[in-house]
Amino acid sequence: MSRTFDAIIVGAGQAGPPLAARLDAAGMRVAVIERHLFGGTCVNTGCMPTKTLVASAYAAHMVRRADDFGIGISGEIAIDFAKVMARAHAVTLNARAGVEKWVRALERGAVFTGHARFTGPRTILVDGEELSAERIFLNVGGRALVPDMPGVHDVPLLNNSSLLALDHLPKHLVVIGGSYIGLEFAQMFRRFGADVTVVEKGERLVSREDPQVSEAIQAILENEGIAVRTGAECIHFAKHRDGVQVGVDCDSGDTEVVGSHALLAVGRRPNTDDLGLDMAGIVTDAHGYITVNERLETSAQGVWAMGDCNGRGAFTHTAYNDHEIIADNLLAGADRKVTDRIACYALYTDPPLGRVGLSAGAARAQGIAIKTAERPMTRVGRAVEKAETAGFMQIVSDAATDRILGGTILGTGGDEAIHSILDMMANGATAAKLRDTVHIHPTVAELLPTIAGMVKA
Ligand SMILES: Cc1cc2nc3c(=O)[nH]c(=O)nc-3n(C[C@H](O)[C@H](O)[C@H](O)COP(=O)(O)OP(=O)(O)OC[C@H]3O[C@@H](n4cnc5c(N)ncnc54)[C@H](O)[C@@H]3O)c2cc1C
Repeated sequence: MSRTFDAIIVGAGQAGPPLAARLDAAGMRVAVIERHLFGGTCVNTGCMPTKTLVASAYAAHMVRRADDFGIGISGEIAIDFAKVMARAHAVTLNARAGVEKWVRALERGAVFTGHARFTGPRTILVDGEELSAERIFLNVGGRALVPDMPGVHDVPLLNNSSLLALDHLPKHLVVIGGSYIGLEFAQMFRRFGADVTVVEKGERLVSREDPQVSEAIQAILENEGIAVRTGAECIHFAKHRDGVQVGVDCDSGDTEVVGSHALLAVGRRPNTDDLGLDMAGIVTDAHGYITVNERLETSAQGVWAMGDCNGRGAFTHTAYNDHEIIADNLLAGADRKVTDRIACYALYTDPPLGRVGLSAGAARAQGIAIKTAERPMTRVGRAVEKAETAGFMQIVSDAATDRILGGTILGTGGDEAIHSILDMMANGATAAKLRDTVHIHPTVAELLPTIAGMVKA
């Protein structure tokens, strides 16, 4: 059987559903194909369940610190792990149902549940049906990468999906990968009461950040009793009677860590290997990311790629923005480009790291002459009042023009306060402009004008 639509969207992650709604509202007949769970990674095994768990972990942490605030709590605190996980699942289920209901309710939409695969330039096979359309939008996302490490297939390793399905707290969780996903899980499981070891191949944690950020985050985690093993160049796995043995080094230091559970969090890979892209002449890069131009058009005419699968972003907000770029260009005659986007993201350790634009290190590496200033959170009134003084804030501006190039806030409220710098950058503002802006007292963001007034080469 064969059916024709105005548009086909493959994947109901963070870009597919809102694009379907825009196209439907513009009068197009849209087919939406989803092979697994509506809402994709963010809703089901990514942002939403993890940030719900981060909130539970924060609550546990603050209860343990109650005495610091003059509040007496008698006895040991108890973590009801089943209830903690049930709360995360409830948030996910609610969001997933909302996305599915939304997509199924589209006036001219048709939903197909199954694996989509190209059979030709404009045709896709799903569940035995062939669908064709002049426009095809790929929103197939990604999954956890399983690198070719010795023994990786011989032991039960967890990933972000299977970890979220655990029904009991691991005794000792070994997290392989000291980057964004691994560190969020590491801190939350420590706060739930597990022993946690982070094993990182590189010389420092979150190695994409400046060394100062890596050092501060490592100190924050170690203060909570998390063991951090960096420079683990020779990671390998073997079965052990107590769980999983993780070999971390070949010839120096403690050569192994034994965990009851091990989480592999060493990166993501795009879901593009089983899409039949060659049937449509769609080109990918060496890592499988679909090659797109700045308007997110693939090498095949009439086919766009958005979200994690195009390698132009790895976040929910970038996936969502991709759909806006495509929809505005197609439906509103706009000329939006992915290159107009200012890079921004957060790492949801506690305190969180909010980042926008260039860090000082990245700017210098590009040969840009910069001015910069920073302030430790110990000198931020709101942080002191909350007794959450770990971290620092930094602003980077161009030495020649004074335009703000980037910012870093590792500190309480950093994920929110960073938007103050982001919005200034979106308007092309200088550090002097931020300096002269009055912010609300007492907030973390209140110190940003002060820092902006101190930038120097
Ligand atoms: C643990 C974790 C925490 C995260 N936390 C954050 C965070 O705090 N903030 C943030 O911004 N980002 C976070 N992310 C990243 C975020 O989840 C992703 O960037 C986002 O989900 C990407 O959306 P997407 O639409 O590109 O893809 P996805 O959400 O992965 O959706 C792709 C969809 O396509 C479907 N699909 C794939 N192939 C096919 C096919 N052939 N046929 C039919 N359907 C198919 C999949 O089933 C899936 O539903 C996190 C990720 C992880 C793993």
